Amino acid sequence: MENTILQISQWLQEADAIVVGIGSGLSSACGYNHYNTVPFFSDNMKPFIEKYGFKSLFQGLTYLYSTPEEEWAYLAHYIKLMYDTPIGKPYRDLFKILNGKPYFILTTNVDMQLDKLFPENNICHFQGDMRYRQCQQPCNDEVYSNDNIVKMIDELDDPTKLPSDMVPRCPDCGRVMTLWVRDDHFLEGSHWQQQIARYRSFLETYHDNKILFLEMGVGDMTPNIIKLPFWKMTAELPDARYVIINTKGVENKSALTELCQASPTCCAHGGGKRPTIPLQLQGKALAYDEDLAIALHQLSHKQCDK
Ligand SMILES: [Zn+2]
Repeated sequence: MENTILQISQWLQEADAIVVGIGSGLSSACGYNHYNTVPFFSDNMKPFIEKYGFKSLFQGLTYLYSTPEEEWAYLAHYIKLMYDTPIGKPYRDLFKILNGKPYFILTTNVDMQLDKLFPENNICHFQGDMRYRQCQQPCNDEVYSNDNIVKMIDELDDPTKLPSDMVPRCPDCGRVMTLWVRDDHFLEGSHWQQQIARYRSFLETYHDNKILFLEMGVGDMTPNIIKLPFWKMTAELPDARYVIINTKGVENKSALTELCQASPTCCAHGGGKRPTIPLQLQGKALAYDEDLAIALHQLSHKQCDK
């Protein structure tokens, strides 16, 4: 393992630019797991656990509430929790690792962790961002800040129900608003397009240079956003390299297993092992199977030593 860390550290040093792909596993490594019962959830969402029996933050996001007052009470508490949650150490370690290099972050996370530390122009929120809401239709191209939502909930008698006049509605059509987070109504408008354009521009700027694609905490639900494009670009660009940290973080491997079976040149898995890196990337790719919090701590120290 020490050799792998040294090699990743060397690749980071040698890279002209770093493209980081971040999924929910990185927040889970901070203790901020959105998909399971963890203290972060049960300590902060007690009224909703008691009322609905939720077992995770995500369950409350997809629950079909009887009224918008109840739905937005949950959303407002979830949003406030995201604003109030301190930056996890793995994110701070990543910040140290990237310091001094051109980098760009493509993320499926919507939980504001990256936004507390990294410049806005270096991030593409592909699946949305809990700092914003949108018209549910949507009838317009706007995303609206959720800053004011947080202030609403401090003095509620019943924390699980907002007064009707506090439920956010679209200023244009009057419809109840929804979080700017990927679902069937997700607004891929100018706010989203600008972020995609920044990501493409970064790739175009550095595609002839030594790009290192660094994947962390990406599960199997949406491999088409980070994992597969990273594999493809690493294969196609002559000087590109690819690093994945913590393949153990993959919780549901069935989708990726199918994907691998569909490709004759993929993968170094089987016999109970999880997929790591495609065979065609050998020599250009490294997998480090270590807890993300530990791996980033180790890497940040290696970077500081240099
Ligand atoms: Zn509207």
